[in-house]
Amino acid sequence: MDHTKINLLVRLQHLDNQIEKIVSLQKGLPEEISALEEDLAFTTRQIAARSKTAEEHLKLRQSFNEIINGCHERIQSFKEKQTLARNNKEYDALSKQIEYEEKEIAQAEIRLQDISQGEQRKEELQKKGRQLIEENRYDEMTEEMMPDDVLKQQLTDLDKQVEHKKEELNSIVIETEDEVQQLRKKIEAQRAIINTEAKRLLDKYDHLRSGTLQNAVVRLNRNACSGCNTRVPTNRHTMIVQGGFYLCESCGRIVVHERLFEEAEG
Ligand SMILES: [Zn+2]
Repeated sequence: MDHTKINLLVRLQHLDNQIEKIVSLQKGLPEEISALEEDLAFTTRQIAARSKTAEEHLKLRQSFNEIINGCHERIQSFKEKQTLARNNKEYDALSKQIEYEEKEIAQAEIRLQDISQGEQRKEELQKKGRQLIEENRYDEMTEEMMPDDVLKQQLTDLDKQVEHKKEELNSIVIETEDEVQQLRKKIEAQRAIINTEAKRLLDKYDHLRSGTLQNAVVRLNRNACSGCNTRVPTNRHTMIVQGGFYLCESCGRIVVHERLFEEAEG
C-alpha cells in the first residue's frame, strides 16, 4: 500500500480542521445576529403600524372637525335667512336644511367619539402593560399592551445589540482574515496535489464531508474510530500502525494512526 497518499489526505484534514477551529471562534455570532435582526424588524414594523394608526386618527379628527365647522357655518346662514323668510314654506324649508346639518354634526361627533374611545382603550391597555412589566409578568402581555416608550426603547436596545455583535464578529473576522486566507491557499494547493496523486481518496474525503460532517479523516483512539467510537478489528491495527488507513465500517470515516496527524502538523 502507498502510504504517502494517505499522508497527503491527513495533511488536508489537518488544514481543514484549522479553518474549522477559526470559524468556531465566531461562537454562533452570525446566528445570534440574524435572530436579533428579526426581532429588530418585528419591533420596527410594530412601531410603524402604531404611528400609521395615530396619523390616520389625526387626519380623521381633522376632517370630522372640518365637517362640523362647515355644518355650523351653514346652520348660521340658514338661521339668518330664516329671519328674512317671506312665508312659512320658505321658513320650513330652511328648518329642514338646518335639521339635516344637525344630523351631520351628530354623525361626525359619534365618529369622533369612536376614535377617542379607541385611543382610550389603547392607553388603558398600555397602562396595564406597564403594570405587568413592573411585576415582571411578561408572559401575560400582549403586543398591544407594550407601552409606546418601552417599544421605542426596545428598538434602540436591539439596534445597539446588533451593532455590538456585528462589531464583535467583524473584529474576529479581521483578526483571523490573514490566517484564513493563508490556510485557504494551502488547502487549494494540497487539494491540487491529491487530485493528481490520489483522486479517489479525495473524492471519498469530499463525499464524507458533503454533509454536516467535518472530520472525514480521524485518529485511531483506544483501538476505536474516534469519529464514532466503533471498535476497529484487531487484524487491522498493524496496518494502521504501519501508516495505512482503515475505512470505519460503522461511519465510513477514514481512520489513521495518531502519528500521521502529528506529522501533518509538522
Ligand atoms: Zn467510525
